[in-house]
Amino acid sequence: MTIERTLVLLKPDAVQRGFMGEIITRFERAGLKMVGCKMVWADEERAKQHYREEDIVPRRGEKVWNVLLKGIREGPVLAFVLEGVHAIEIVRKMVGATEPKAAAPGTIRGDYAHVSFAHADAKGTHIKNLIHASANAADAATEIAVWFTPEELHSYRTVHDVHVVE
Ligand code: ADP
Repeated sequence: MTIERTLVLLKPDAVQRGFMGEIITRFERAGLKMVGCKMVWADEERAKQHYREEDIVPRRGEKVWNVLLKGIREGPVLAFVLEGVHAIEIVRKMVGATEPKAAAPGTIRGDYAHVSFAHADAKGTHIKNLIHASANAADAATEIAVWFTPEELHSYRTVHDVHVVE
């Protein structure tokens, strides 16, 4: 199947900086379809279901995992599911590299942030890169289930289905 669904979180820094609309517009312009959306202030359990210890700690270390769990709960996130052709890979491409310093101009992290890993580590904070997007198909399935019930996701047609997808 080329049509995929992927989980996006606009993290508290994106919500509080007022970039929700601008970021959603980028995805809409690319023809991606929003099939579910809600604002959630995560509790610790949901934060741990999303940033799983066995995924983050081996790659980033325990210190980063702890600041990340705190950071994602600094305020509400806007959670949504996008659907489209190879949506998982396309959305990651539009999001850009994890470190805003390295993220290319034209990507969300490259256009709306600039900080480095070194700066975040020195401050003892998570890196505020505005947005989370599922990394692969297995993560997308797990993460969509963390934030949405099946009833909260919708199937409908858009004009993009006519002009972009079909
Ligand atoms: P991504 O969000 O690009 O998939 P990861 O899953 O590796 O990246 O990391 C999750 C989040 O943890 C990142 O988006 C970032 O906010 C934070 N993070 C990762 N590495 C560091 C680090 N060295 N220092 C501070 N925060 C980090």
